[in-house]
Amino acid sequence: MGLASWIIVQGLPLVPKAIVGRVASRYVAGEKLEDALAVVEKLAVEGAMATLDLLGEEVSERSRAAAAADEYERMIETIAARRLPSNVSIKLSSLGLKIDPIFCRENVERIVATAARHGNFVRIDMEDHTTTEATLAIYRDVFARYDNLGVVFQAYMRRTLADIAALPPAGANVRLCKGIYIEPRTIAWKGQETVRLNFLQALEKLLERGTYVGIATHDEHLACGAVALLERLAVPRERYEFQMLLGVDPELRRILLAGGHRLRVYVPYGRDWYPYSTRRLRENPEVATNVLKAMISGRGGFGRG
Ligand SMILES: Cc1cc2nc3c(=O)[nH]c(=O)nc-3n(C[C@H](O)[C@H](O)[C@H](O)COP(=O)(O)OP(=O)(O)OC[C@H]3O[C@@H](n4cnc5c(N)ncnc54)[C@H](O)[C@@H]3O)c2cc1C
Repeated sequence: MGLASWIIVQGLPLVPKAIVGRVASRYVAGEKLEDALAVVEKLAVEGAMATLDLLGEEVSERSRAAAAADEYERMIETIAARRLPSNVSIKLSSLGLKIDPIFCRENVERIVATAARHGNFVRIDMEDHTTTEATLAIYRDVFARYDNLGVVFQAYMRRTLADIAALPPAGANVRLCKGIYIEPRTIAWKGQETVRLNFLQALEKLLERGTYVGIATHDEHLACGAVALLERLAVPRERYEFQMLLGVDPELRRILLAGGHRLRVYVPYGRDWYPYSTRRLRENPEVATNVLKAMISGRGGFGRG
């Protein structure tokens, strides 16, 4: 990341929300379910699958968490009615994890049960380390009754290899990513190469134990390493998929699809786009150029109200 982009990233909280919205609109499908479904349809034409995410993080009112669970049920029913190649991704903090873990687990179970009725699948995203234990506890609890549930492991976490070893012996489905939250060095690997090494070690362990893996990365080094591992271990195509975020490196997406790999795009939508979008902007090496362009053009995006 160049100096100008680094300065913009440090000053992001000061950038007007409307400008952030303009730059971030490539990462978010829109504010409504219909916007997201239109994106899923376009991706399907490209040969890509999707996972839908209702934006919204930590909630402190039960009514908002319950409303999010309702929206997920509506999402799953609409996906089924339209026969779209999409599952859903949920964040436990938006389903009441910090209000009451039992209430959160009930919300999760309601969504997973609806997905099971429609032959669909639910992925629990992983948030920051303060939620890891509680997230895994809810995952294990609900997975004991429903196997259409998966979880995420972050390669930057030192605990990840041990968490893989502790997975349920059969039927687990894991998304492996680097991890996006800023974590203390005492619990997380920090160097870029170290995180890559741990990612490939974790991937190898998952594949060796026969776990279905969502290989979630835009890092060409990891995509290349993963393809080599998949070939070396002769992993059949139906045992894994690549995963990428909407708006990030569509060229790599097409390259992987053309290579015959299955690929799923994470498609977020909703009115609470700001925290998700700022995380994406921090990862974009060209954030400075894009912010300047947005300031000059004054068109498009969210957050104009
Ligand atoms: C499908 C999916 C689901 C995820 N779920 C979670 C989760 O549940 N929990 C969690 O902590 N993290 C999650 N992440 C985020 C992940 O942990 C990383 O922060 C993110 O993917 C960046 O890591 P990378 O492997 O792509 O490597 P990076 O080294 O960050 O990126 C590789 C290259 O991709 C390009 N790139 C990356 N981001 C951008 C961007 N925003 N704009 C433009 N170019 C970009 C750059 O050219 C960069 O050089 C998820 C990621 C994906 C793809």
